[in-house]
Amino acid sequence: MAKKTIKKEEVSVEDKLKSLFNLQQVDSQIDEISKLRGELPLEVEDLEDEVAGLQTRIAKYEAELKENASDIAAKKNEIEECNALIEKYTKQQNNVRNNREFNALSKEIEFKELEIQLAEKHIKEFSANEVMKKDTLKTAKAQLKDKMSMLKEKKAELKAVVSETEKEEKKLAKDSETLLNELDEYLSIAYKRIRNGARNGLAVVSVNRDACGGCFNKIPPQRQLDIRARKKIIVCEHCGRILVDKYINDIDNTQELKDIEAAKTKKKRTTRRKKA
Ligand SMILES: [Zn+2]
Repeated sequence: MAKKTIKKEEVSVEDKLKSLFNLQQVDSQIDEISKLRGELPLEVEDLEDEVAGLQTRIAKYEAELKENASDIAAKKNEIEECNALIEKYTKQQNNVRNNREFNALSKEIEFKELEIQLAEKHIKEFSANEVMKKDTLKTAKAQLKDKMSMLKEKKAELKAVVSETEKEEKKLAKDSETLLNELDEYLSIAYKRIRNGARNGLAVVSVNRDACGGCFNKIPPQRQLDIRARKKIIVCEHCGRILVDKYINDIDNTQELKDIEAAKTKKKRTTRRKKA
């Protein structure tokens, strides 16, 4: 395509309207392609979030289990130390000089035995905790496996759909960008704003059966004439969409002339009938 050398200010309103209309056509085609994909991109995104969440949880459980194991090892160590001391005190009891010394050692031994009991109680608790955590970890790992295989499937599905339309979509995206860049800045901003606000992605609509093609509200005859004159950019007073007449994209105005001719003939016939 030959590059336009005229400045943006020199572009007539009619040409601006045509550009807007063309841009809308291209963007609507892009919307159609997106519709084909349906919920797939969202489903993939959700699954990716779930997988990431599960991976974080699994890492947390694994760290907790490691800590639990080291707690158990520490308590076992404590028991060993207590046993060694008990052995030592028992031996010392054979070499005491009096009852007082013997009793003192007995107290120490008793105390160490209590410590052992307490450590054993803790080990029991940690072990129960370990069983529970291992179970939770197992469930999470199974869930992760499921979600990952679902994600793989959905990604493959999406890839297949995308590859079918990829080429076309790239071309359309490029066309859309080119057309948008050709517009005045205020128009391109307005276009984007209206399009984003419209549920069906339509920012530029034509007048059909005397109504706005976006919201279907009636358009007064004078306003319709203004739209057909293509001298101003006119928006729908109900929905704010940019309005164009339905012949905007005709290369020649043959159809328009035919329609006008047909309307005239119809009018003549009615008038004649009235006279009769
Ligand atoms: Zn409207």
